[in-house]
Amino acid sequence: MHNSANKTLPPVAFTQQAYPGVGTSIVAELETGSISLLAITTATIAMACKKCTHQTVIAATHNIGTTRAPCSKCGRLLEIEFYPEYVYPGKKKMGTLVTRNGRCVDIPEMTVQVTCAKCVPGENTSASSMQMAGVRPGEHRLGKCPTCYTELSLRIRKTLFVVELASEKKKKPVDKVKLSPGEPLPETGTCKHYKKSYRWLRFRCCGRLFPCDICHEEEINGPDGDRHVPEMAARMVCGFCSREQNVGETCLCGKGTTKGKQNPFWEGGKGVRNTVALSKKDSKKYKGAGRQKTEKH
Ligand SMILES: [Zn+2]
Ligand SMILES: [Zn+2]
Ligand SMILES: [Zn+2]
Ligand SMILES: [Zn+2]
Ligand SMILES: [Zn+2]
Repeated sequence: MHNSANKTLPPVAFTQQAYPGVGTSIVAELETGSISLLAITTATIAMACKKCTHQTVIAATHNIGTTRAPCSKCGRLLEIEFYPEYVYPGKKKMGTLVTRNGRCVDIPEMTVQVTCAKCVPGENTSASSMQMAGVRPGEHRLGKCPTCYTELSLRIRKTLFVVELASEKKKKPVDKVKLSPGEPLPETGTCKHYKKSYRWLRFRCCGRLFPCDICHEEEINGPDGDRHVPEMAARMVCGFCSREQNVGETCLCGKGTTKGKQNPFWEGGKGVRNTVALSKKDSKKYKGAGRQKTEKH
């Protein structure tokens, strides 16, 4: 009926990369015989498009960063990152999926690498491992250890997706202000902290645009902030023409983007961070002139 049934493959180098954040966990109920360790190396995932709800099947492999495929109905690009984990008797979580533009609804099939429990665990576990391809939930699969020929058995009774609730935290950064190249930025790119810095900076830590490092920190440490560790900016958007480019003192349009004092660390320089003294002076002088709200709704 199915060609892939009972197909076995040689083992592959598998490095566990447990996902540090929150995503959708794959949890399984397993029955194993003579297997000490297993891991999903490829998962065929049915993903429902967020836009049209149509389901598209995507094969996500363990060592590939992001797998992308268009929704087979509306064409929207669906993305999956797959972080499988080693599973041993008593452990149910098999890995984490991080998706964009859709959600996981089923794993109809997977390739599972299994390691023999009868062979002495040593440096060369690949000699006592194999991959079972085309493993479908509910089916009973058998294989033989390539070293000691013990029969290895596996049945994945069922799989469940457990969506971890804080998954919103990991969402991609979006610019809340739309850039119109050719047009100036609001306030020509200045802010209440730096009245003579005519640009916005794109911070490496979060990929978002802010007029300055203080605006950035106010946002990330504010009520909706995630308190991430700030990193300096490598890109800027000119306040006069809204073109994004590498950080520099002069824009491609010929206008100077900084005048007078600047903050060398955060604006792409190498120096020490030394913004507080400057900003206090400026913010007193121009109290109430702030527009850090442009990064909010
Ligand atoms: Zn769609
Ligand atoms: Zn063995
Ligand atoms: Zn940031
Ligand atoms: Zn600012
Ligand atoms: Zn410019």
